[in-house]
Amino acid sequence: MKAAEFVCKVESFRMLTPTVFEITFNTDRLLHFQGGQFISIIIPGAGPNGRDLRRAYSIASSPERDSFELCIKVVEGGPGTQYLYKLRPGDAFRGIAPYGDFIYKPKLGRHACFIATGTGIAPFRSILLSQNYRSNPPVKASCLLGVRTEAELLYDLELRNFSGLNFITAVSQGTESNGKDFNGRVTHYLQHLGDNFPWLETEYYLCGHGGMITEVKALLTKKGVSKNSLHQEVYYK
Ligand SMILES: Cc1cc2nc3c(=O)[nH]c(=O)nc-3n(C[C@H](O)[C@H](O)[C@H](O)COP(=O)(O)OP(=O)(O)OC[C@H]3O[C@@H](n4cnc5c(N)ncnc54)[C@H](O)[C@@H]3O)c2cc1C
Repeated sequence: MKAAEFVCKVESFRMLTPTVFEITFNTDRLLHFQGGQFISIIIPGAGPNGRDLRRAYSIASSPERDSFELCIKVVEGGPGTQYLYKLRPGDAFRGIAPYGDFIYKPKLGRHACFIATGTGIAPFRSILLSQNYRSNPPVKASCLLGVRTEAELLYDLELRNFSGLNFITAVSQGTESNGKDFNGRVTHYLQHLGDNFPWLETEYYLCGHGGMITEVKALLTKKGVSKNSLHQEVYYK
């Protein structure tokens, strides 16, 4: 579908963690997107000389719903997040969508491993909830979410209970083992996996912090994973 501009109306606003909020909105006409795609939100007058700015946000909800969810990390002094953080039910904003090719591409006989840091989990939630994924699931699926502290975990309960998904959380500044999360970064977790992991039979989807993506790609390349099996969306460097 070609991207078009929509007027979006906020249905609800809530904090998911102390620093990440969720906005649910509807659009003035039908918006079709695929799990993993994003919307470019217009931030009025926040650019140089009062020009509009645009900021990208992955849609976190199912493509089969007509109301949409975003999960957004508050960035101090960031014009995009400061604008969105002030929106409340009934407010309107403008967005252009859908964009992006970071979508789930089913491949027969392949496993899938989704790896995110922070709000990078958003496109994976949408993919996992999509009809495209449910009709063409991978042989086995795992999802690894890296955050600094346990309080920053997103969709934890939902993804832990997601049927057919091995959901692992890696908490880099966890104080002590709580038996639930891996203590360390996502790269440390991957280094722990032995030869039983189907390294070469897996498609890898990486999203979030650019540093994590670079490190994980280096690790996977060392394991012999081909470039064709690596799919990425960098949120910021
Ligand atoms: C395709 C795409 C999809 C994206 N989807 C999401 C999403 O679903 N949720 C989301 O929160 N962000 C997402 N982002 C990041 C988003 O577009 C903005 O960059 C971010 O919200 C900061 O915008 P800002 O104007 O507030 O601050 P800016 O002034 O633009 O950014 C200031 C600094 O904040 C840091 N930063 C940016 N994004 C994050 C983040 N998510 N977590 C921690 N630090 C960050 C960077 O160091 C950046 O240089 C996405 C980016 C891309 C390219």
